[in-house]
Amino acid sequence: MDSTTATAELGWTTYPSQGWEEVSGYDENMNTIRTYQVCNIFNSSQNNWVRTKYIRRRGAQRIHVQMKFSVRDCSSIPNVPGSCKETFNLYFFESDLDKATKLYPPWMENPWVKVDTIAADESFSQVDLGGRIMKINSEVRSFGPVSHNGFYLAFQDYGACMSLIAVRVFYRKCPHIIQNGAVFPETLSGAESTSLVAARGVCVPNGEEVDVPIKLYCNGDGEWMVPIGRCMCKAGYELSRTGEGSCVTGFFKAAQGDHKCLQCPINSRTTSEGATNCVCRNGYYRTESDPPQMPCTTVPSAPQNVISIVNETSLILEWSSPKESGGREDVVYNIICKSCGSRRSGCTRCGDNVQFIPRQLGLTNTRVHISDLMAHTQYTFEIQAVNGVSDQSPYSPQYTSVNITTNQAAPSIVSIIHQVSRTPNSITLSWSQPDQPNGVILDYELQYYEKVHQCQLIEFISIHQTNTAVIRVLRPGTIYVFQVRARTVAGFGRFSEKLPLIIGSSAAGVVFIIAITVVIIKSSFPVFSRFSFYMYICCCFFYFSVEVSPGMKIYIDPFTYEDPNEAVREFAKEIDISCVKIEQVIGAGEFGEVCSGNLRQPGKREILVAIKTLKAGYTERQRRDFLSEASIMGQFDHPNIIHLEGVVTKSSPVMIITEFMENGSLDSFLRQNDGQFTVIQLVGMLRGIAAGMKYLCDMNYVHRDLAARNILVNSNLVCKVSDFGLSRFLEEDTSDPTYTSGGKIPIRWTAPEAIQYRKFTSSSDCWSYGIVMWEVMSYGERPYWDMSNQDVINAIEQDYRLPPPMDCPSALHQLMLDCWQKDRNNRPKFSQIVSTLDKMIRNPNSLKAMTPLSSSVHLALLDRSTPDFSSFSTVNEWLDAIKMGQYKENFTSEGFTSFDVVSQMTMEYVRYFSYIKNRGLTCTH
Ligand code: AMP
Repeated sequence: MDSTTATAELGWTTYPSQGWEEVSGYDENMNTIRTYQVCNIFNSSQNNWVRTKYIRRRGAQRIHVQMKFSVRDCSSIPNVPGSCKETFNLYFFESDLDKATKLYPPWMENPWVKVDTIAADESFSQVDLGGRIMKINSEVRSFGPVSHNGFYLAFQDYGACMSLIAVRVFYRKCPHIIQNGAVFPETLSGAESTSLVAARGVCVPNGEEVDVPIKLYCNGDGEWMVPIGRCMCKAGYELSRTGEGSCVTGFFKAAQGDHKCLQCPINSRTTSEGATNCVCRNGYYRTESDPPQMPCTTVPSAPQNVISIVNETSLILEWSSPKESGGREDVVYNIICKSCGSRRSGCTRCGDNVQFIPRQLGLTNTRVHISDLMAHTQYTFEIQAVNGVSDQSPYSPQYTSVNITTNQAAPSIVSIIHQVSRTPNSITLSWSQPDQPNGVILDYELQYYEKVHQCQLIEFISIHQTNTAVIRVLRPGTIYVFQVRARTVAGFGRFSEKLPLIIGSSAAGVVFIIAITVVIIKSSFPVFSRFSFYMYICCCFFYFSVEVSPGMKIYIDPFTYEDPNEAVREFAKEIDISCVKIEQVIGAGEFGEVCSGNLRQPGKREILVAIKTLKAGYTERQRRDFLSEASIMGQFDHPNIIHLEGVVTKSSPVMIITEFMENGSLDSFLRQNDGQFTVIQLVGMLRGIAAGMKYLCDMNYVHRDLAARNILVNSNLVCKVSDFGLSRFLEEDTSDPTYTSGGKIPIRWTAPEAIQYRKFTSSSDCWSYGIVMWEVMSYGERPYWDMSNQDVINAIEQDYRLPPPMDCPSALHQLMLDCWQKDRNNRPKFSQIVSTLDKMIRNPNSLKAMTPLSSSVHLALLDRSTPDFSSFSTVNEWLDAIKMGQYKENFTSEGFTSFDVVSQMTMEYVRYFSYIKNRGLTCTH
């Protein structure tokens, strides 16, 4: 309520009638206002009231009243009586209804409630000539709590000369506000001037509470105070004047917070409003670790100004940084090495043996030294520039290539030369091909001399295809020193380290060597293309040379070593036991437990390994046999042959450490996953096994125990041939092994000629491979089920062969049958098996055809010809004979009670019964 806004009379109620009087006047700005005046100072006992109209409370709990008034200074009035006052009283009266009358409420202190006695700060003593200038006081009083719908105010004069110029009645409230990311509603102040009224805030749209509760307090002055809790704008939104607003196009906000949306960094843009990040423009990228405010970057351009300096088989490459770094600081360089032989064959990636210093990939400098290249070879080097975003770009890496041709270079050093065996006056040595032949090795030169003598030199040159030689007619008890070097058209390589060896036992010997015989052993290619012989008389040096096919490596039987420990030393790396951590037992080997564990060798990554142990209390022979497996395995290097990491022989227990094959042996793996693989997956496994066997065959190694139980499977389903233990075959000592069914020869897997007269060859391995195929396609079924070994031998002899396992493509069964050819020369070579399987994998349609319905395939499930019923009088008798006695009932119930009917059985029945037999199910139909 504001009396100054009244345009007409205020019309307040006065009592008594000669007291307060409504008068028009002027405020300090000379605006017309309505005032109440009273000035009965010369009459004592004044009690003049003026009462406002009913004022609605409108929810306020505390009411403030501002009064503007002027009061006449009593002392300035001549002859003023002592009753003159300079103050007045303010009262209020609450009521739910506007029910006041001239007499109600009564004009007295009770029922009115007194707020205060109000005095003037300034009183005026003179009225100007116009009577219009006044000194105006302004006082504010408040009262509360109030609770009725409304109230009246009253001003009591008791003997002053005064004018009530303006009365304004108001309450205080805190306004609607957005603070700390939350909206707070308009809130009225409390009943007391010291009250604090709590208000709950609500997050603005797209704001998220960070601290709760979210509160502000409204004080008695209508001011917000004590903020508690907060909300923050979501990613993509910022606080605008009106509350939350989404980031506009071209701006983003990556995370919740109070900060503003940011402009998209260079080479990025938004796809909509409210973006939480800016996406990179085409051809620009970010790495996962690039912050969103960082500009998008691109791939570097190719390195520039490449310089190459060739030195024999080494090379230095230098280049300068790319013109464009792509906007990043993390440019590094990779070197791709390709050797380019004849034009027709194109270029192929260089092998691991090429050395790069400081390294091949991730070079931070613009220079690399490359060595151990092949001599006289054309190479292409690509110098790639890559940075953190290169892997995201289809156009990366950009590279500059340089073609170089290496120069001629002699072969590298023959690093290993060892004694294979010796007699009292001869010695057999073998050595490995140099790591870097640098061309076709024409021959080797072996130099040896008596350690104590310096006399005539004798040189032998023999051209032959091996790297093993026997040197005969040596003096027993004499120490000789041996060295070997290789020769190519570029000349001789360096001699190997000197190998001093003492020959046989001491005996009165020939003082001077007259002749030396060179005998080539273990040659599978005994073709002498040239043989020449030179002798020089010089210090006691002897030379001879042997030609080999470069790159050809042949398995060396560790038992041809006089000391098999020597073979272990040569082919298996000794591992320090401190590098091995055994985790758990995973199987039982022939010589002790097989465990899984970890191998951490200095400078290498920790890897999972399998650890075969030799149980305590072994004999020397058992130790030798146990370690022979490592000497064999260590000679192989093929992805489908189990890889030897090394041996522990210097501490106990003795161990053989191999790569770990997560899925264990193939037979149990297939049984556990019956029916789980596609035919292509199974063929892929078979292809791996065949590739491993081809490698062994090329190495001249005959496995003799190829079976699914001796294949290991890793987590990628890669199958690797394992189990190179020889002992079981060596110990076999049966006078007539032809029909041996004892533990030593795995009859079901072994070719007939190997069972009969121990003719173990790669062709007998091929037979076993056919059985492995059958095991794989039947998910680990036992070949020939529960037939006895003797029955198996008889059946094979009578041309019975295993039938196709269920769902086995006929092409695969045909390959099995090829492997089971009686004449071993008719069986396929492993190289043919690999290529046949490769063709099947390339052309999966060839695997669709199943065994055709043919009346020639009969229930005599192994028989490839018509069954012969002549020696049986009943079908049951016949079933007993073919070990299918358990199906007698099924035959009877199906009406197959005479040979006539049985021989008419359709292929469906044959397959049905084979299936049941295959799966070990009971026949119910
Ligand atoms: P073995 O003496 O080679 O027949 O090994 C016995 C058993 O140990 C095998 O049947 C496998 O279950 C397990 N085993 C052998 N070598 C490994 C390996 N490298 N990785 C995983 N398990 C293996």
